[in-house]
Amino acid sequence: MSNTVFKGGVHPDYHKEMTDSMAVTEMKVPERVIIPLQQHIGAPCEPLEAIVVGVPVKKGQKIGESSGFVSAPIHASISGIVTAIGPYSHPLGRPVQAITIESDGEDLWDDQVKPAGELEKLKPEEIRKIVREAGIVGLGGATFPAHVKLSPPADKKIDIVIINGAECEPYLTADHRVMLEKPEEIVFGLKVMIKALGAEKGVIGIEDNKDDAIRVMEQIISEEENISVIRLHTKYPQGAEKMLIQVATGRKVPAGGLPLDIGVVNHNVGTAVAITNALREGKPLIERVLTVTGAGVNRPANLLVRVGTLVSEVLESCGGLKDTTQKLIIGGPMMGLAQPSPDVPVIKGTSGILALTDQDVYLAESSPCIRCAKCVDACPVQLLPTAIAQAAEHELFKQAEKLHAADCFECGCCSYVCPSKILLTQWIRIAKAEIIKAKKR
Ligand code: SF4
Ligand code: SF4
Repeated sequence: MSNTVFKGGVHPDYHKEMTDSMAVTEMKVPERVIIPLQQHIGAPCEPLEAIVVGVPVKKGQKIGESSGFVSAPIHASISGIVTAIGPYSHPLGRPVQAITIESDGEDLWDDQVKPAGELEKLKPEEIRKIVREAGIVGLGGATFPAHVKLSPPADKKIDIVIINGAECEPYLTADHRVMLEKPEEIVFGLKVMIKALGAEKGVIGIEDNKDDAIRVMEQIISEEENISVIRLHTKYPQGAEKMLIQVATGRKVPAGGLPLDIGVVNHNVGTAVAITNALREGKPLIERVLTVTGAGVNRPANLLVRVGTLVSEVLESCGGLKDTTQKLIIGGPMMGLAQPSPDVPVIKGTSGILALTDQDVYLAESSPCIRCAKCVDACPVQLLPTAIAQAAEHELFKQAEKLHAADCFECGCCSYVCPSKILLTQWIRIAKAEIIKAKKR
């Protein structure tokens, strides 16, 4: 099945050849993990009452919980002793409460970790409970709790579940490798979601720069009547929720609306595997596949890493950084977050660690807008980035709101194409934050 393209978007240099042929290898168990209690969109967790400094914990044991519906519990990713509970640097930029565990060298599973039962016998509400208890969030980077997406309101009928294998961010290849190495687990996870939602069919969307993954997934679903693979044109941000849904189903998510408003739920390939692991083995989400890449890394790799491992240790396991490294990013170059230091833990949403050198980082002063409209053409949601950014610069946030700044999902296409190197996305992000603040007031 082929597809049409969405409007706007860009074609950056992808650089995926650095790691796309590298099989996922498991990083050695760290001697210490620092596990933030906020690793998802929604209410942060609190440490469980029994989790205090000095107590032993096992791998997979729940250590943090929240009573909020939009939240996901946190589990120990190694066995050992809790040695600290307190604020620690976080990839999002501000310190967050975290639980430090020093390894006992045993790496023993908690007794509670056991298979949940056969899919055929599980009811939708039981599936949702298993997914929630496993602390599964969207592994594409959005970190939205997975059980929430599997619990639509009674008046919203979901008929299509989309599995996102687009991986449109340059450099990142973790999802590509997961599709090559865990295709059966992806399809099983999709079936679990279809059952939980009472949906009719599943669609797996993959960009056409991952031909081998398309072939593998087509092969694995060849006997499935209600699951198809869709070949997506390679264009950034093809993997963004709205773009993917539009291309895969022909339906448009309304401005300010959600995919479930048009009968669609969308999950990442890694999330599907995590759901499979939770059902089949009872494993909570304590590790993830991520790509360590960029010209600044000595030995780029795709790694399976325990949540809470410090980024500095992950980099060390890849031979460390070259002296020419200029910029460290968690995620990809378009939507990732620049880090002042590698002293932050890997969290559930860490899809990649990217080290750019002085050759990659083009530092230029912004110059005045020349009204070329390239940013307008590139915007996949048809906003006027230049007008919103100018409104933000002059603190005219009401004006920015009228220009639909809230619909910007910060893909970075406008900044990428701007010949005047204006930091459009950054200004729009400021406008969005101010609009939210004003609404709260
Ligand atoms: S305005 Fe927002 S959505 Fe549009 S291109 Fe810029 S960052 Fe992307
Ligand atoms: S791309 Fe840059 S220079 Fe061109 S209109 Fe937009 S802001 Fe102005």
